[in-house]
Amino acid sequence: AQEPAPRRRVLLKLSGEVFGGGKLGVDPVTVRGVAEQIAKTVGVVETAIVVGGGNFFRGAELSQSGMDRSRADYMGMLGTVMNCLALQDFLEQAGVETRVQSAISMAQVAEAYIPRRAIRHLEKDRVVIFGAGAGLPYFSTDTVAAQRALEVRADVVLMAKSGVDGVYTADPKKDPDAVKLDRLTYDEALIKDIRVMDQTAMTMCKDNGLDMVVFGMEGEGNVTRAILGERMGTVVTV
Ligand code: UDP
Repeated sequence: AQEPAPRRRVLLKLSGEVFGGGKLGVDPVTVRGVAEQIAKTVGVVETAIVVGGGNFFRGAELSQSGMDRSRADYMGMLGTVMNCLALQDFLEQAGVETRVQSAISMAQVAEAYIPRRAIRHLEKDRVVIFGAGAGLPYFSTDTVAAQRALEVRADVVLMAKSGVDGVYTADPKKDPDAVKLDRLTYDEALIKDIRVMDQTAMTMCKDNGLDMVVFGMEGEGNVTRAILGERMGTVVTV
């Protein structure tokens, strides 16, 4: 069996929204800011990152406008790789050694996804960015975040959210009585259909006892603090 990681090891999920700053494509100012926050934690915490791609394409949306679902999903996965390269660039500018591992082979821009190698990178203070999702249509990058976290033995999945700072009893944008929850169990989230991440991902975390922290990107230094393990946002547990 694998030994548990001696240092804190986290899996950070950054959705496409984070990269685009709410728009299509990559917003360099936003990505630089995130990279600089991650850089502050290197050497203390081991960080692996799964990036989304919703700032480029979402397969389900493209298929609703008439595209073949699988092909649209591959477009979605390719979009995530562009986000990986942008993040890699800004991390390296911030002095952080970084490796991108892609689930779809593209040797010129990324290593292949090799979990044991990813772990070695983490142990050597390199940030590992996982791109191209699972390489499989009909999956989401949330599910990949749960799967990669389990496979590299991360202690926790950190779900960075844009525009909201945790899980609420109702949609805080619509309901003024919505209250932020400090803790939540996966069963509660699943039963109440709270969409902190997709259900497949939550089930995977639940079945394997993996904790998740849902936190807001926006506050000053929030990404740094979340990686370092400060208590914030909402903790989701078994
Ligand atoms: N995708 C996929 N398989 C995967 C991961 C992603 O097919 O394993 C596709 C899917 O079409 C998805 C898109 O890539 O809509 C972008 O990923 P996601 O929607 O999870 O990104 P996010 O919402 O985090 O920005």
